[in-house]
Amino acid sequence: MGIFNNLTGFGGRDMAVDLGTANTLVYVRGRGIVLSEPSVVAVDSVTGEVHAVGVDAKRMLGRTPGTIQAIRPLKDGVIADFDVTEEMLRHFIQRTHQNRFAHPRVVVCVPSGVTGVEKRAVEEACLSAGARQAYLIEEPMAAAIGCGLPVADPTGSLILDIGGGTSEVAVISLGGIVVSESIRVGGDEMDEAVVNHCKHEHKLAIGLGTAEEIKLEIGSAAPLPETIRTEIRGRDLVTGLPKTIMLGSDEIRVALEEPVSQIVAALKDTLDRTPPELAGDIMDRGITLAGGGALLHGMEQRMREETQMPCQLTESPLTCVAVGSGRSLEEFEVIHRMSRNSHRRRRVGAAV
Ligand code: ADP
Ligand code: MG
Repeated sequence: MGIFNNLTGFGGRDMAVDLGTANTLVYVRGRGIVLSEPSVVAVDSVTGEVHAVGVDAKRMLGRTPGTIQAIRPLKDGVIADFDVTEEMLRHFIQRTHQNRFAHPRVVVCVPSGVTGVEKRAVEEACLSAGARQAYLIEEPMAAAIGCGLPVADPTGSLILDIGGGTSEVAVISLGGIVVSESIRVGGDEMDEAVVNHCKHEHKLAIGLGTAEEIKLEIGSAAPLPETIRTEIRGRDLVTGLPKTIMLGSDEIRVALEEPVSQIVAALKDTLDRTPPELAGDIMDRGITLAGGGALLHGMEQRMREETQMPCQLTESPLTCVAVGSGRSLEEFEVIHRMSRNSHRRRRVGAAV
């Protein structure tokens, strides 16, 4: 199993971290997921002091006074700010790490757009947070393991993970990624599309938080059986005063079309580059959708229509990467033990 090559001898309190562009999850061996918080840090831009991390910091997005800034350090799938990422990772690891004298080993899953230098920065951050060792796992692989796909088998599995800042598509077979594509389009671009729609069509200014709420409530990737509406509040761009308007699901679907079609294109492009045998397997077994963005209404249906292949939304789209990274901790132990036993058997055999 190529993916587990450099993971050796995990101990009891080891943990796995899904360092997502929108959300960070921590999985502790033997306990499961113990933390799930937005990847946001509130920092004082003058002193550099960290005011809040996670949920508390997300509440501050778009609402901070003067010098305090709420930052999403991984927003576009690249590490925009090393120091803030490090602070955030350290904070989450330390909060979940009960015994500060025991140094855990940590598996971290990072978006695949992250560069070599950034990966080393993530490893460094884990070490400075008290980890004994840090290992990185590729995001689509972690997602596929977490979705229960047979990644080690000689059969093709296709995973599409739609996150906040990135969407990643990969075809996996025999424990390795055969073809993949990562684009910097995800749920964030959908939120921005809603902001722009309100600005241009309704002359209404709204924040990204409101845009996300609208997306969750009435957004869709395919026509809904009937139009649903929601009331929203913003600032009238003409009068400058607060204003309330009604928005319908049809107009929001049209507004979301651009980011959604970019994700469709990434999926089709990956299928296009998939070797025929593996494409045949995917025809039979279907495409698995994961990540928060896959929860958009009609996403499964849209992908099915576009590819003419079976598509299914995985059981836990928001947690599968953390679970998959965590399982790599657990499974490794078994694989490691098996390989030790087989060495032992060989030695016994040689003595006879
Ligand atoms: P990442 O792995 O990049 O941190 P996640 O997989 O946690 O991202 O997904 C976060 C994204 O999913 C956000 O853009 C969020 O708005 C979006 N999302 C979450 N739930 C839904 C939903 N029900 N419908 C549409 N989008 C959703
Ligand atoms: Mg993710």
